[in-house]
Amino acid sequence: ASTLSGKTALVTGSSRGIGRATALGLAREGALVAVHYGRDQQAAQQTVDLIKKDGGRAFAVGAQLGAPGAIDQLFHQLEAGLREHTGKTVLNVLVNNAAATTPTGGAPEEMSAEQMDEIFAVNAKAPFLLVQRALGLIPDGGRIINISSAVTRRAVPSQVVYAMSKGALDQLTLHFARHLAPRQITVNSVLPGITDNGGAVFQIPEAREQMARLSAFKRLGEPEEVAHVVVFLATDRARWITGASLDATGGSLLG
Ligand code: NDP
Repeated sequence: ASTLSGKTALVTGSSRGIGRATALGLAREGALVAVHYGRDQQAAQQTVDLIKKDGGRAFAVGAQLGAPGAIDQLFHQLEAGLREHTGKTVLNVLVNNAAATTPTGGAPEEMSAEQMDEIFAVNAKAPFLLVQRALGLIPDGGRIINISSAVTRRAVPSQVVYAMSKGALDQLTLHFARHLAPRQITVNSVLPGITDNGGAVFQIPEAREQMARLSAFKRLGEPEEVAHVVVFLATDRARWITGASLDATGGSLLG
């Protein structure tokens, strides 16, 4: 059975990685998915094509989060796409997945104020503004899912600013869960551990080995494994979960 048929979803940063796997997963459950990207329109189109090949429905929306006017730009395209495909502008599921990351291994002392601004703008401020704006489109029973990180629970000094921004995102989850409960809208965080998104560091065998050791299962996570958790939260079966942080780390926090 398609648990999300008749529903619509926006997944930020779904041109690749966990976002792409999430967009594919939501579409497989029947949702019409707005595939958002920042820079890589071609990659976003690939996600759309993969969904269509799978028998699903999707369209791409582009906006560089953190840049002036990005939220307006995104919602302009989102509403146009929803109207074209459904005749309405209802958005049932918002997944805040796009994020700016810091290079691994850098010392906290090297972080500049400008880099901090960029990371907070994309990882914390943009999700808040997206939620704020999306609330006009989200009906009762809607879903907001914020992709946080295991680094909010485990010290990684080189990631301190990134972790601070994800900590702020988790606060969005907590306070909006209370605020939106009267509308039966659930708001939750998902915490991925190290997940092979195909990026440069995952091409280095020694780095892969080292990262794999962090999980209790002694391997890297796959984007689909995080996506399954997000898709579950998007369904009606997860209606009794709100304000929660779901661990999708393969036991990386077990100690
Ligand atoms: P990727 O780095 O593979 O992809 C990032 C996505 O976000 C891309 O689609 C990119 O779009 C988009 N994006 C980045 N910056 C912007 C921006 N300023 N404006 C618009 N879009 C932007 O990400 P992952 O799949 O690795 O991560 C997804 C989420 O999971 C993130 O929130 C991340 O913090 C979190 N996470 C990931 C972990 C991992 O090990 N991979 C571990 C813990 C958490 P484009 O390329 O088109 O610009």
